Amino acid sequence: MKFGGTSVGVPEHFAVATQLVVARRDRDPVVVVSALAGVTNLLADFCRHSGHRRDIAARIVDRHHRFAREAGLPLATVDALLDAWCADAEALAEHLDALHGAERDEVLSWGERLSAELFAAGLAAAGVPARAILAGDAGLITDDRFGRAHPLPEAEEQLRAALGLRPPLPVVTGFLGRTGDGRTTTLGRGGSDYSAALIGAALGAEEIQIWTDTSGMLSADPRIVPEARPVAQLSFTEASELAYFGARVLHPKTLLPAIERHIPVRVLNTASPEDPGSLITAEAGPADSPWRVKSIACKKGISAVTIVSTRMLLAHGFLAGVFEVFGRHHIVVDLVTTSEVSISVTVDDTTGLDAAIGELESIGRVEVRHGLAVVAVVGEEAPRRVGLAGHLFTLIGLAGRLAREPLVRGARGGRRSRGALAAPRARAGCGGPRSHHARGHGGPPVSVRVVRLGSARASGEGTRIGTVRRPPRGVPKSKFSAQNWYDVWFPTLAPSVETMKLGQGAVTPGTWATFTKRYKAEMAQPEARRALELLAALSHTASFAVGCYCEDERRCHRSLLRQLLIENGAKVEPVGP
Ligand code: ADP
Ligand code: ASP
Ligand code: MG
Repeated sequence: MKFGGTSVGVPEHFAVATQLVVARRDRDPVVVVSALAGVTNLLADFCRHSGHRRDIAARIVDRHHRFAREAGLPLATVDALLDAWCADAEALAEHLDALHGAERDEVLSWGERLSAELFAAGLAAAGVPARAILAGDAGLITDDRFGRAHPLPEAEEQLRAALGLRPPLPVVTGFLGRTGDGRTTTLGRGGSDYSAALIGAALGAEEIQIWTDTSGMLSADPRIVPEARPVAQLSFTEASELAYFGARVLHPKTLLPAIERHIPVRVLNTASPEDPGSLITAEAGPADSPWRVKSIACKKGISAVTIVSTRMLLAHGFLAGVFEVFGRHHIVVDLVTTSEVSISVTVDDTTGLDAAIGELESIGRVEVRHGLAVVAVVGEEAPRRVGLAGHLFTLIGLAGRLAREPLVRGARGGRRSRGALAAPRARAGCGGPRSHHARGHGGPPVSVRVVRLGSARASGEGTRIGTVRRPPRGVPKSKFSAQNWYDVWFPTLAPSVETMKLGQGAVTPGTWATFTKRYKAEMAQPEARRALELLAALSHTASFAVGCYCEDERRCHRSLLRQLLIENGAKVEPVGP
């Protein structure tokens, strides 16, 4: 059971957390804790700025004293540790430089050391014998990549040996490890989730529970989308993609140990422990509607590297050469796309990138773009859903924030779970003003065409915008070009079946007038209005045409739609062949 900073950092949640452990004592749990909320940030500041170290040291003491008091624990619980912290901090206060490497990890470790002590005391006060234990003492042995340490193979056996004997119930410091020669390491920010998974996997736990401040993995980041909802069930792949592409609720590496050992992971809310949360297993479980993907994540601060070389054309070994360079410089590549003469990759951590670029320049012309964001749209079924990619591009285009062409696209087709694209950060839905003047961003305008007005809302049909492989019945081929069109369905813009039937039989002015009235009434409903507004906005960022192939344009559904779009402020161009 892992409790995050928000669970252990708020006294009311702390009380719930300890009660949750007490209630599950017969399941023989191991507890993993993060630092109290905000403490690791304070410690990171301590390392960065030499000027305020004494002040920060005092704030840390104060925060833990105050917390102990509010949680009803004796101050003596943390006094010995706080004295040791003050001694360390004092020794570093005169140090003028920023702290790095082993020294920094040692400082960062104080947050988890203190919270583990508090949690063990909380359990003891509730009648459950518990002991706070440093991850290193618990056997979590890592390499010496300070700040992003990786567990060594022997860690598993050692964790089993150290944590196998219970009671007392172990409360292990998350986020931390220890090198073979005894120096403290950290696993990367947010790494307590990973600690919990490593421990759960080593012990063959029945379940790994991540207790946090949301009722599971949500359909989007709640800080960006407040109405995001919990996703009841996700596959390991779906959750890994989300965690990797920015869903902070899980550290990106968390699921690796769980996948290896087939251990279910549950994400639960300490503030609302009755909520079912999210269950992450090998099985994806259904999305809650055929029109919905599971969740969307966004990761900022991404760089894209494009290598252009005509040598790639019909040559073998070119890609291997490129990736060999990235591999040798320990650069993790996220998304990859290739054309006949170029390869683009995105990179999150740019450490070592300059050196790699120097070498890549001997292979081809290298272009680097910084400050991008990756938007990941996740769902096992997503790649098979016709029109989804087009819908995605349209929606991001609607926000006026996507470069004309996606820089990198991933997971096209196949049974993979993610569609991702990189976009200039300011335009990637992560901030920046909405723009209706995307033409000014350069690149060719996008052609969007209404090709079909759907008929049945219930069957998921809708108004389709974009490419069709074959022209609809009765439309000469010469009138269709399927290139460069988006493929977007608007189910909310579909008239009801009855209205559509009425429209299809509307041969006299009287039946047409009845159809028009009903159609307009349905299009005035909130969902349809919203779709119309979206389309109208789209028309300002793309070349927009509402096609009409009817004998009599006065009695054509599309011309009605065109009229409604114009009423909603759309810029509609006359349709050409
Ligand atoms: P903890 O302290 O429990 O480790 P974190 O702050 O690390 O908590 O992670 C939880 C936070 O992650 C949430 O409060 C939320 O703001 C953010 N978050 C981002 N994306 C998602 C998502 N898809 N589902 C749930 N939370 C998310
Ligand atoms: N306390 C650490 C951090 O803030 C680890 C964690 O919260 O998981 O990054
Ligand atoms: Mg976290």
